[in-house]
Amino acid sequence: MTTETSTKRKRVVILGATGSIGESTLKVARDIPDRMEIVGLAANSNAEKLAAAANETRAQSVCLVDETKIDALKRALAYQPRIFAGEEGLREIACLTNAEMVLVAIVGTAGLRPALAAIEAGKDLAVASKEILVMAGEIVMREACDNDVRVLPVDSEHNAIFQCLEGKSSWDVRRIILTASGGPFREMPRTDFESIIPEQALKHPTWNMGPKITIDSATLFNKGLEMIEAHWLFGVEMKRIEVVIHPQSIVHSMVEFADGSTLAQLSYSNMCFPIQYAVTWPDRVPNSLPPLDFSKLSRLEFFTPRYDDFPALNLARRAGETGGTLPATMNAANEVAVAAFLDGQMRFADIWHIVEEVMNRHTPVAHPDLDAILHADQWARAEATRCAKALKR
Ligand code: NAD
Ligand code: MG
Repeated sequence: MTTETSTKRKRVVILGATGSIGESTLKVARDIPDRMEIVGLAANSNAEKLAAAANETRAQSVCLVDETKIDALKRALAYQPRIFAGEEGLREIACLTNAEMVLVAIVGTAGLRPALAAIEAGKDLAVASKEILVMAGEIVMREACDNDVRVLPVDSEHNAIFQCLEGKSSWDVRRIILTASGGPFREMPRTDFESIIPEQALKHPTWNMGPKITIDSATLFNKGLEMIEAHWLFGVEMKRIEVVIHPQSIVHSMVEFADGSTLAQLSYSNMCFPIQYAVTWPDRVPNSLPPLDFSKLSRLEFFTPRYDDFPALNLARRAGETGGTLPATMNAANEVAVAAFLDGQMRFADIWHIVEEVMNRHTPVAHPDLDAILHADQWARAEATRCAKALKR
């Protein structure tokens, strides 16, 4: 290995290594070994899958949050990495001395504290976990600025916007246009929503992802969360962030500049593209991913979202515009509602009702500190659980 490649080989810790983004990140590491080294791997409870990833990458450090599975992890490991356990271990592995970047791919909000710990330890963040930016975007971005670290977006839309912006300031931006596939119920009449079962909602037309984000894509809460995520990542007001339905998921998002020109980023819907760019930025390096074959792209369509039928977008706009603790309560209520729907406890459309109900009951705190955010998160979970129980039939 030349000196140049060794200095450009990024040492990465993956939090959420056993999930869908974690798997794609391991694929990228396999594809561009000269540019990426996995030094740490963390997961919640799947000891066998974590051990398999560790045995392949020979990461020096491994963390399993579920301490009851540590023995199973040790048995499945073919070498002796440093082992961390529990939530404390998750924060420790996010601060490894030899790591340069921490890729946060934990579903939900459990990644927030380790992400903040990584920032404090001077690590760049690659963020897939949009929930943590929705919940605490102001704090995460301020801490990153104070500690002089970068927050690189992994979410495909935000990675696309990041590529279109290429360092331009938010002043040059007239509009950010987030694309959404529209999910499996894009064309379904509202009257049929009553009968939707989890198996249908879990079938995403263009992306293969973990269950929570797949349901969020069906309700359009995913796009709502992404509007707020974009607001914090790029410092653009909510009113300049729009959503367009693009069923083919080829254009991953667009930026319209002050002069009326629009830039877009295109590729097949494969998370390895944005993950690789977050890791190798600002460089572009060859890989084995298929480039677009324009002769086979018969059409790229764009539609206005059905705002009344999919209320998530308006709820998220309200949460983002109000700010403070309201986005955290929206996010927490949504997490509880999604779990209750997947559990067969309530109907698909109840997800929107529960989130709206919890948001209506909340008195937002402006510019909250971490404690106020965590308090709002817990409050919203309890409220949402109560609402879900009341709906149970
Ligand atoms: P997933 O359900 O497939 O995987 C979740 C991962 O998080 C697993 O590795 C699990 O072990 C870990 N985890 C869960 N709870 C944890 C806890 N309490 N502590 C530590 N680890 C925990 O989810 P996913 O689809 O990979 O999504 C991960 C994140 O990336 C989500 O925030 C999602 O919104 C975002 N994202 C995913 C995609 C995608 O294509 N899958 C695209 C864009 C953004
Ligand atoms: Mg996305």
